[in-house]
Amino acid sequence: MEIERLFGRTRREIGQQREPAGQTRLRRAGYLRTSSDAGFIWLPLGAMMLERVQRLCVGLVSDVQPLVLQLPEQDQEAWLHELIKAEIRSYRQLPQRLSWEARPGVSAILWLEATQDDLETCMNTSWEDWQATWARLNLKAQEIVATPYMKGSARAWGMPCADGPDAWLTCPHCGEAGETGALRPRVSPLPEEPPQEVEEVATPGCTTIQSVADFLGVPTSHTLKAVFYATPQGRIIFAVVRGDLEIDVGKLERAVGASLHPASSEELEAAGIVAGYASPVGLHPREPITVVGDPSIQANINFVAGANRPGYHLRGVRYPRDFEVDILTDLIQAHEGAPCPACGHSLDQTDGLVLIRQERLPVSPDGPTYLDETGRPLPVHIGMAWVDLHRVLVAIAEAHHDERGLILPSIIAPYDAHVVVLNPQNPAVAEAVDQLAEQLEGNGWEVLWDRRSESAGVKFTDADLIGLPWRITVSPRSLKQGGIEIKARAAASSTVVSLDELMDALSGD
Ligand SMILES: [Zn+2]
Repeated sequence: MEIERLFGRTRREIGQQREPAGQTRLRRAGYLRTSSDAGFIWLPLGAMMLERVQRLCVGLVSDVQPLVLQLPEQDQEAWLHELIKAEIRSYRQLPQRLSWEARPGVSAILWLEATQDDLETCMNTSWEDWQATWARLNLKAQEIVATPYMKGSARAWGMPCADGPDAWLTCPHCGEAGETGALRPRVSPLPEEPPQEVEEVATPGCTTIQSVADFLGVPTSHTLKAVFYATPQGRIIFAVVRGDLEIDVGKLERAVGASLHPASSEELEAAGIVAGYASPVGLHPREPITVVGDPSIQANINFVAGANRPGYHLRGVRYPRDFEVDILTDLIQAHEGAPCPACGHSLDQTDGLVLIRQERLPVSPDGPTYLDETGRPLPVHIGMAWVDLHRVLVAIAEAHHDERGLILPSIIAPYDAHVVVLNPQNPAVAEAVDQLAEQLEGNGWEVLWDRRSESAGVKFTDADLIGLPWRITVSPRSLKQGGIEIKARAAASSTVVSLDELMDALSGD
């Protein structure tokens, strides 16, 4: 390939934007353009690398080569569910591996297995293959507990980097790492209290947790916080947590399986609920509602809760003695500074790139089934992964560079070498170039030729920016010194070798 024919120029100067430094290097070297509304635009050099990343992270990580699907962009989850139900009939069809493009730059992988153990084994094998890939690419990726896309249990590989588009929480003390939606901060235990009877007290004008706590002289941790949300269909979801804790709406949404918005006063009124004084104790809504409680309400203390009439609260409320919940599950928001779930140390925020997510889906009664050897229906066990090829590529650029540009690992580089020809009209140079081309081609090397009439300085600067593993220079001077100058992109200096020694010298890396 001639550099002149390449679509995508290098840039000496490029507009600054908040992004990982590796992404800026890709833009300067002509691999990538970005647009604030369209996202990533990969130029030919970048697209070639994406293909290699795809092969490394999707094609090679599975014991079974995945079959490729094409799915509509919308409602992929529902389509998959339908497809698996319709297409999988017998144990003879399992295991299956499928992959498809979930959205531009993100490859999805699906595992279908006959048993939970088989699924775990296969997903773990891929997980370790990815770990080996990071080691090969010299990426310092860390395992993080991930927020599930569906209702399963999820983990991810993330690489910390400044100005990364993703963020997660990390414990500097014990190394625990997870996305906010996946971690439950440690909840400080409260000293137990002997049970009291429920009594109603007047709390005029106290419609917030803080005002009730101040008025009654109790800490907010001894109150029950009640927050109302509504589904798009208007069903009221009532979330209850200990008063000193915040609710993570994402966790609540996954618990009820619907997107939620804060309930409006009209929606609450229609359901017969008194905002500001509501609690699950003695609540008799006109419409059916769903009460979701966080385990923090299980503390053996006498809580203050709303009395479901304006101006009054209840003291001495205990769960489960005084009220029921429909779902008891983690609802607490994790954030920077929250106590680590494992050791209680304060959590830090880590910016970075989430490279891959992997999720094991729970088996549900209406899920897809297959018939075993005896004709008995059994659930299909399903796992998924999303490989973010764009982020993997940015991570590689982030990890492999110097102040002059990229230093690409050979397994990912779009070409093996950058061949700089100086003075191409010189007959000796022209002859050496012909022999060089024959040698490289004969050995299966794919190279980027630079025969432009630019100065040596311009050409070397471009070669450094683009960062192919080798720079090979043919010039009257190199010929005078005995042959061809070669320089590994990562090396500090170059050497001159004869054409006969060339391939040995290049494979010596
Ligand atoms: Zn910790």
